[in-house]
Amino acid sequence: MNATTEKPKATLSKPTELLFWLAARSHSLAEQFGVQLIDEQTFRCGTCHADLPHADEDCPKCGSKVAEPTGAFKERLKIFPQPRPWLTPVHPSRPNELTFNPEVYAKSLSDCSEYTEHMRRFILNVWLRNPTYAKTKGWEFDLFKAMRGLDSNNLDAVAFIIRYPQWP
Ligand SMILES: [Zn+2]
Repeated sequence: MNATTEKPKATLSKPTELLFWLAARSHSLAEQFGVQLIDEQTFRCGTCHADLPHADEDCPKCGSKVAEPTGAFKERLKIFPQPRPWLTPVHPSRPNELTFNPEVYAKSLSDCSEYTEHMRRFILNVWLRNPTYAKTKGWEFDLFKAMRGLDSNNLDAVAFIIRYPQWP
């Protein structure tokens, strides 16, 4: 192991991070993106009741070491290490800030089952927000065709993303 060759940790552009959160709702896309949504217990300080970002650290407000579970859960996105050739640098000067690259991603469209392909076309169109452009590239998403075969998890994911207030 050589510390000098260690690459700095890559970060995702904001829109790409959001796309990962959305993709995690579909089991087909979660597998390709290498992500999982996890419900995590939240904690508060046992002394001053401030919300604690980490249960294993002292309270940032009063220094108390006592954390207690709130009984509430929040979603956390777990990102697994795996190759993602469709993430490319936002700008050559910032090689560690990665963004979703639709041109590269589109190469994966037919590299899967027919119904996984519907989901891949869907998330690609969520990113593009430009059905005319998608059509000229042959990347269009056909909701009615997709509906005939998608399982309930993927249909729920499509419905969730369509309703999602921050997208577009
Ligand atoms: Zn406290």
